[in-house]
Amino acid sequence: MKIASFDDYRIGVVDGNTVHDMTSALPEFLAQLPRQRVNWLVSHWPELRSKFADYRNSGRELPLASVKLLPANPGPQHVFAAPANYWKHIGELGARSVTTGGRSAREQGFFLKAPGSLVGAGGTLLLPKGSQRRFDHESELAVIISRRARNVARAHAMEHVFGYSCLIDATMRIEKGVAEEERSMRKSFETFTPLGPWIVTADEVAEPGSLKNKLWVNGDLKQNANTSEMIVGIAELVELISSVVTLEAGDVIATGTPEGVGPFAAGDEVRIEIERIGSMTLPVRECELRAPRPY
Ligand code: MN
Repeated sequence: MKIASFDDYRIGVVDGNTVHDMTSALPEFLAQLPRQRVNWLVSHWPELRSKFADYRNSGRELPLASVKLLPANPGPQHVFAAPANYWKHIGELGARSVTTGGRSAREQGFFLKAPGSLVGAGGTLLLPKGSQRRFDHESELAVIISRRARNVARAHAMEHVFGYSCLIDATMRIEKGVAEEERSMRKSFETFTPLGPWIVTADEVAEPGSLKNKLWVNGDLKQNANTSEMIVGIAELVELISSVVTLEAGDVIATGTPEGVGPFAAGDEVRIEIERIGSMTLPVRECELRAPRPY
């Protein structure tokens, strides 16, 4: 099933070019906490699943093109991300990378992106107004966690995956010796984490470790790899993160980018496509307002 968040945090099942609005299948009290709807759905999926599977017989039908797609989960408690998780990517950024010595995600662990940096497939990637810095795209498979868990053993980790989505890990690169802000900050500008276009439930992705992962800028293919090339696989990432902190239902894990990382600028269009999950294209613009502190 493809589960989407759209318009004013409504929840729908996507089938072809149609969204079936299933918001009324969720408890009424969530109208007070609409951004939490996906977290609630994920954590109550065992009892909701059959209701949602019957989407053709319940719920208003809307043309997919008529809705604004929001982040696949607009309100995760955590957005974790794996650095350096494809060998061919390691080293390609030279002095613009903070990763040294060829260390992968296995040695570095994870970093965090602000959940406030999420944007949906219907959104826009916004760059700081007037910036001369370099901003890069990173094409990544996102994992959505199904339930609260701590110290998950690798052998059981895949039981904790609710589904998958496409994620662009947008980044402001460092300028060695000139501007070397913390990684979490450089990757947390608002809209720097496009997540979508929806969540595909795990039952429909038999082999998440074997999916084509592609990204284009203005129609030019820039990244073209397969999740089979990941150094630290999904199960090991779940084990690693949950060994540090409790995973929550709806949490997002960005699994790292392959080679081909490069810049994008205002006026560009960035498209990500992951096999069996979907694709989304976001325009890039500058923010309307200049930040009080320049970037
Ligand atoms: Mn990344």
